[in-house]
Amino acid sequence: MLHHRPDHPTLDVALAAAAERFGTPAYVYLTDRIEDRLTDLRARLGRWFAISYAMKCNPNPALLKWMVDRADLIDVSSGGEAAAAVAAGWDAGRVSFTGPGKREAELAAAIDAGVGHLVIESLREARLADRLALTRGVRQQVLVRIAPDRVPRGFGDQMAGRPCPFGIDIETAPEHLAAILALPGLDVAGLHVYSGTQCLKPEAICENWRIFMEVFCRLADSHDMTPRQLVFGAGLGIPYHAGDTPIDLEAVAEGVGPDLDAFRSLPRMRDAQLVLELGRYLVGEAGFFVTRVVSIKESRGTRIAICDGGLNAHNAAAGGFGMVLRRNYVMHRVGGENDGPDEAVDLTGPLCTSIDRLGSGVVLPRLEEGDLVAIHCSGAYGPTASPTRFISHPQPREVLVSGASLADVTPAGWS
Ligand SMILES: *Cc1c(COP(=O)(O)O)cnc(C)c1O
Repeated sequence: MLHHRPDHPTLDVALAAAAERFGTPAYVYLTDRIEDRLTDLRARLGRWFAISYAMKCNPNPALLKWMVDRADLIDVSSGGEAAAAVAAGWDAGRVSFTGPGKREAELAAAIDAGVGHLVIESLREARLADRLALTRGVRQQVLVRIAPDRVPRGFGDQMAGRPCPFGIDIETAPEHLAAILALPGLDVAGLHVYSGTQCLKPEAICENWRIFMEVFCRLADSHDMTPRQLVFGAGLGIPYHAGDTPIDLEAVAEGVGPDLDAFRSLPRMRDAQLVLELGRYLVGEAGFFVTRVVSIKESRGTRIAICDGGLNAHNAAAGGFGMVLRRNYVMHRVGGENDGPDEAVDLTGPLCTSIDRLGSGVVLPRLEEGDLVAIHCSGAYGPTASPTRFISHPQPREVLVSGASLADVTPAGWS
């Protein structure tokens, strides 16, 4: 009888070792997989793009440190993230700072730290940053974030094409960009678009990047700009659910390559560094959430495995992070004998609320008390996107696996 196979025989050894040594629930990040992802990205898209790591998806300090020599740039979404990136060894000059509600103190600290680019999301923010720069006697480099008026179908999350708090709407961009360009304390280095994410369709990605190029060309022409940097908030998705097809990067490269070549040959664009800004696609599939079955309950014909980590530790898998209807993440039982037929099981967490559910009707080898379950695609939007203090269970552990070495990299103050 065939059973779900762990996708790599050594994977379960590492996951089980992490659980034994450091406890559960635990997030386990495999750096070899991130390395492979980066190599693949550079092979297929590196002739056009540099890579920026959008750290909000996983700000683990050890991972940030590991990334220093591997990604070209880092994008932070708060003053706290900016400080964490610098503390992990990132030169402030490689940091960009996005976010729709930046406060004066954050902007001031970023300018003082020497952040490479502030990503300006409104005229109000531009004027504030201008004043802060002038009082310090500096000229701050900025990118201006534009919200296009359309996002193709196929993006799991959409940040433009409708009323949205992000960036400057393309409809008002001509006027606002002119005003920003006139501010003496700011040096507009280029433009930025991040309008949708979690897309698995190559054609939709290509179409979206064409929209970005159209926006960049139109504004550069109308405002006589020669951008030094243009950020493509990339939108590449990962296969969270059974039946999801991983995105075919080669199809993306083939589909949009000619457009990128033509774009880069435009006199205005020749010297622009193009940047892919990525979060989940870089680290999501390299992470597994490992939880232990504390208790089995047979309830009115349904087998329920009650686990030691639920929505408190993995909000996204419990459906609390952007899913309209909760769908099961791909998961497998770690190790164990294939001693009988697979069977459907519900997985819940330790919380006293019915929304604490990691899986419904998941078909797995029979789970018993003490078994480990690994949830895939958990390297992004994990611990810091979860309400870990709700009901005062222990914080999840975070474990970094590099080759054969395992390290507990749970941030200080989290235990
Ligand atoms: C969150 C974010 C990203 C990364 O999003 P993913 O879906 O994790 O790839 C990129 N750019 C900006 C500006 C973001 O806020």
